[in-house]
Amino acid sequence: MEAYKIQQHKYDVIVVGAGGAGLRATFGLAEKGLSTACVTKVFPTRSHTVAAQGGISAALGNMGEDDWRFHFYDTIKGSDWLGDQDAIEYMCKNAPAAVIELEHYGVPFSRTEEGKIYQRPFGGMTTHYGKGTAQRTCAAADRTGHAMLHTLYQQSLKHDARFYIEYFALDLIFDSDGACRGVLALDMSEGSLHLFRAHAVVLATGGYGRAYFTATSAHTCTGDGGGMALRAGLPLQDMEFVQFHPTGIYGAGCLITEGVRGEGGFLTNSKGERFMERYAPNAKDLASRDVVSRAMTIEINEGRGVGEHKDHIHLNLQHLGPEVIHERLPGIAETARIFAGVDVSKQPIPVSPTVHYNMGGVPTNVHGEVVRKRGDNPDCIVPGLFAVGEAACVSVHGANRLGSNSLLDLVIFGRAAADRAAEIIQPGSRHRDLPMSACDAALANFDGIRNAKGDQPTADIRLNMQRIMQKDAAVFRTGETLKEGSAKISAAYDSFANVKVSDRSLVWNSDLIETLELQNLLGQAVATMYSAEQRHESRGAHAREDFKDRDDVNWMKHTLVSVDARGKSSFDYRPVHLNTMTDEVDAVAPKARTY
Ligand SMILES: Cc1cc2nc3c(=O)[nH]c(=O)nc-3n(C[C@H](O)[C@H](O)[C@H](O)COP(=O)(O)OP(=O)(O)OC[C@H]3O[C@@H](n4cnc5c(N)ncnc54)[C@H](O)[C@@H]3O)c2cc1C
Repeated sequence: MEAYKIQQHKYDVIVVGAGGAGLRATFGLAEKGLSTACVTKVFPTRSHTVAAQGGISAALGNMGEDDWRFHFYDTIKGSDWLGDQDAIEYMCKNAPAAVIELEHYGVPFSRTEEGKIYQRPFGGMTTHYGKGTAQRTCAAADRTGHAMLHTLYQQSLKHDARFYIEYFALDLIFDSDGACRGVLALDMSEGSLHLFRAHAVVLATGGYGRAYFTATSAHTCTGDGGGMALRAGLPLQDMEFVQFHPTGIYGAGCLITEGVRGEGGFLTNSKGERFMERYAPNAKDLASRDVVSRAMTIEINEGRGVGEHKDHIHLNLQHLGPEVIHERLPGIAETARIFAGVDVSKQPIPVSPTVHYNMGGVPTNVHGEVVRKRGDNPDCIVPGLFAVGEAACVSVHGANRLGSNSLLDLVIFGRAAADRAAEIIQPGSRHRDLPMSACDAALANFDGIRNAKGDQPTADIRLNMQRIMQKDAAVFRTGETLKEGSAKISAAYDSFANVKVSDRSLVWNSDLIETLELQNLLGQAVATMYSAEQRHESRGAHAREDFKDRDDVNWMKHTLVSVDARGKSSFDYRPVHLNTMTDEVDAVAPKARTY
């Protein structure tokens, strides 16, 4: 192995990732006086959060009656009772203050006539425990993520956080006692290696949507944090739960926000029927995403899809009128024009269910601290390691996330992680010496990939993986397809041993970076497929045709999956927290989930 020269940096805390979650954590840590560096592979305001359109949920009650307890109930029901109720209580109760805080930091929310923050309806969001429709999603037109990201970046700079931009984090670095003490990263512009030492590391690397062929996520969503966790021997949680958004533009995959249906848009099949009335008589087009995606898939499978191949559905917003479209959904009109070639004021948008969000991730408690099971303790803290945002599984989304709850998750738990780190870390405290061998495994993995001399191009292995995931870990799953998918995804994993990296340079080497990302994706693809195969029930986004019902007796538990270096997965489980944190709200007992 080449002897690499490594530059060292010391900070109190390192945050990996500058999306909404990473920036909220970075700014919170810096604000508390901890020396904080944020390492990010893309420029902060290019992080995937910039694409979030519809908004952020909080029971502000600006557009009618609302209560955080209604939000709490909706989130538990949306999660199909797999979400941890204590974490959901924490998130929903703190949501109004978190949104007001964002407003004060500078997020330019849209306004009502009276000047209050504008809120729109979103799927699964109700009042009075399912009886009314809530307008709970706070929006900055259809560019909410963009507005949040810019504001949080500015706040981080204001508090003197240090940014290492276009640095690719390779692996977590641990002390001999198992505490995480830093991260090894590659400066992509100079080709130099850097060891960022810290008392704690916050993983905020986003989701792994790019394990699939068609996804609304950016090409940067390669689950690098999850890949690092797996290589460190840590399990991931609930990876079988992958959200398909009902309205990705047919063929292109770009998202058309649920906010469109919130503003009155509706879906039709080839007969012009508003078919959601049959599947969700009350919520109709605003049922939760898993319900709408399944209904669309059934319509298509039964021959009522639209288009030449009858393989997609129409989303209509022509009736809303140019004024509403211009004021509330300007970005959507542009996206539909560019990617579908339609004028939304005259024609419907062709849409199909598209991979959108990963409910699974690195398991944490409500402080963002990474947990693992040890003996009888399912919540044993991994010292020095935090995870927040889509990379994490806290778990507030359970088996299915409600739209606009992710941006909320980012700021609530980004802040919680910063608060916890400030409680346990003394600013400027001395760094313990690391063992000489601390970076050996990370360097060996990096060097092995850099010098990979096989005969399979990265792009070929990636495409194969993406097609397998799209076909066999889809909206509907069966034992047969999952068994076949498991065998195929294992073969794809094995084929990585034969990957070819033709460019050995360290400077701006996209071949190398894409291969490192592929390794991260493959581990999570295996985790997803095998977790789906072993869960013998249907819950939220995991719909098994051979086990059509939810099975609370045997399966109301979180899956913990580990994937070793040979690609073999092993399983354990954590109980779902069915208790609340306080007596301000009652836990919601499981019941049938209808909309
Ligand atoms: C099109 C679209 C629209 C959406 N709209 C909404 C919405 O309206 N409301 C809502 O609540 N949710 C929405 N979501 C979901 C939400 O946007 C995401 O879940 C959320 O933005 C994820 O934020 P994050 O901070 O966890 O990760 P990201 O924003 O993905 O950021 C990840 C960060 O990690 C960095 N990173 C990753 N790997 C590495 C590495 N190896 N080294 C260094 N840095 C690394 C990246 O540079 C980036 O800065 C939407 C999702 C999509 C796809």
